[in-house]
Amino acid sequence: AVTAAVVVHCKMKKSGKWEKAMEIVKEFEEKCATPISKLRQVADAMLVEMHAGLASEGGSKLKMLISYVGNLPTGNEKGLFYALDLGGTNFRVLRLHLGGKGRGIVSKQFEEVSIPRSLMTGTSDALFDFIVAELAKFVAQEGMDFELRPGRQRELGFTFSFPVLQSSISSGTLVRWTKGFSIEETVGRDVVAELTKAMEKQGLNMRVSAFVNDPVGTLAGGRFTNNDVVAAVILGTGSNAAYVERAHAIPKWHGLPLKSGEMVINTEWGNFKSSHLPLTEYDHELDAETLHPGEQIYEKVTSGMYLGEIVRKVLRRMAEEAAFFGDTVPPKLKVPFILGTPIISAMHQDTSPDLKVVANRLKDILEISNTSLKMRKVIVELCNIVATRGARLSAAGILSILKKMGRDTMREGEKQRTVIAMDGGLYEHYTEYRNCLENTLNELVGKEVSETVVLELANDGSGIGAAILAACHSKYLETDE
Ligand code: BGC
Ligand code: MG
Repeated sequence: AVTAAVVVHCKMKKSGKWEKAMEIVKEFEEKCATPISKLRQVADAMLVEMHAGLASEGGSKLKMLISYVGNLPTGNEKGLFYALDLGGTNFRVLRLHLGGKGRGIVSKQFEEVSIPRSLMTGTSDALFDFIVAELAKFVAQEGMDFELRPGRQRELGFTFSFPVLQSSISSGTLVRWTKGFSIEETVGRDVVAELTKAMEKQGLNMRVSAFVNDPVGTLAGGRFTNNDVVAAVILGTGSNAAYVERAHAIPKWHGLPLKSGEMVINTEWGNFKSSHLPLTEYDHELDAETLHPGEQIYEKVTSGMYLGEIVRKVLRRMAEEAAFFGDTVPPKLKVPFILGTPIISAMHQDTSPDLKVVANRLKDILEISNTSLKMRKVIVELCNIVATRGARLSAAGILSILKKMGRDTMREGEKQRTVIAMDGGLYEHYTEYRNCLENTLNELVGKEVSETVVLELANDGSGIGAAILAACHSKYLETDE
């Protein structure tokens, strides 16, 4: 049957528009190329920035923030602790009962709440009041088995997925908002004080014992059960990494000598920027339209918040300049951020012979129905280009962390395992992305080293880790040593 799609397709061929559309795709693909040599340059450039960031505060775009987590969990932590995990799109509240030596996590309850968009760009009070109201509801469901001892407060680990300049394990000022957040007045304020103010207002009897960035929490949560965990990477709405550094390799650290001799560093690698990054005109345009232009460039090419938006921009261009979808540009294609990563991932991973999933998504989300199989294949290819670039650049980031820890090569006689705890929806749900990242990392480090490096999904890791760190830093310390 001659469908409308075929007609569109044939018309395009005749007028040379198909060629024009393919030119746009080809040019985009070339500019997104990430050959291994380029990835090595990216990793080396990131390593240079890491050193600069550790040398002095503000020494680099890579903040290399001191987490004040010097001692990581041992697995012997004990007691009932809460966590609050404020991320890119949702926040979670958790209650964790730690059993002490050999008993691990005895029970865990959690709830997830999505953050109303308006609160992401409203006022500081409105955001923290909302969060605390939800937290208080959750605390009110505490079981009868838990009784707060007189004169005590509940203890909370607070995971906050934005860059913070910490002054202790339980305080720190916001450097800037990222992702979909922008509340000017919070910048420069102590985030724990903001939360505490809201808790006091609502009469919630709770104190923040540990305040951490999400990869730091994930690392701690990973270490609780596995001693080989030395780094953590978040690939979700945003992107970041944390790792264990030797205290003497942190020139900007002027604090007391650490018993462990180690300190977890929050790299904030999302803000990495380099002439080696393969950026296209679409990336520059996207950057200019975000809430924080010029910042978080590496994050904007690797993380979940942006992948679909890049695809949309290329498609829109193809619609405008090559009539890819017919004579008019589909209006939905003009809506920023209409293509979320779950849509890109579903289209990319469509295995049906006629690309039914792609057809359905185009229809449901973009209200485009007249596509040929050939057009749908092109759309899958676009998703592939964007995801591949992101995943390969993330692998380069991980290589730079391995280099910084001296674990990118085999040391003689040593077969030390390196486990990296991974968290975030992009890594968890986008299989093609995850596979591409892992294959690329293996290629970068070579066979021998790749056998010692393990990426381990740590579901909920950032929240669990924060509750465990709250236990480590409890005012009423109870552990089985
Ligand atoms: C933030 C980081 C965070 C990462 C992942 C980035 O936008 O700057 O602090 O760890 O997102 O959530
Ligand atoms: Mg998160």
